[in-house]
Amino acid sequence: MSKKVIDLLNAARSRELTAILQYMNQHYELEDKDFGKLAKKMKEIAIQEMKHAEALAERILFLKGTPSYKPEAEVVKGQDIKAMLVTDTKLENNAIKMYNEASVICAAENDQISKNLFEKLLGEEEDHLSFFENTGEHVEKLGAAYMATLAD
Ligand code: FE
Ligand code: FE
Repeated sequence: MSKKVIDLLNAARSRELTAILQYMNQHYELEDKDFGKLAKKMKEIAIQEMKHAEALAERILFLKGTPSYKPEAEVVKGQDIKAMLVTDTKLENNAIKMYNEASVICAAENDQISKNLFEKLLGEEEDHLSFFENTGEHVEKLGAAYMATLAD
C-alpha cells in the first residue's frame, strides 16, 4: 500500500488531534465563563473530531502504518468568543482544503476506501465550519444580545 496515503492519513490525524485539544479547551474555558450552551456545542464537536482521529488511525493500522500521536499545532488559550471562532474557522477551513486534496491523491493512488474516508470527514468538517461561521457572524452583528443566548 502507498506510503503517500499513509502519510496523508497521518497528517489528517495530527490535524484532528489539534482540533480535539482546541475544542476541549474552549469547552472548559466557556464553561468557566458560564457560556454553557456554546460550551456544550464545543464538547460535541470535540467528540466528533475524536471519532475522526480514530477512523484515521484504524485506516492507518489496516494499511500497516503507525498512527501519529502528535498534534499538528499548539492549543490557543485565553481567547474571547469572537477570537475563538476565528481560530476554529481557520482550523476547519485548513482541514477542508487538505481533505479535498487528499481525496484526489487517494484516487490517483487507487485507494477508494481512504478516498471515501476523507470525503466522509469533509462532510462533517463543512458542518463544523458552517456552525463556527454562523455563530461568528451572529456575534459580530448582534453582539451582547446574541452572546446572552449562548449562556444558558
Ligand atoms: Fe475532523
Ligand atoms: Fe471539524
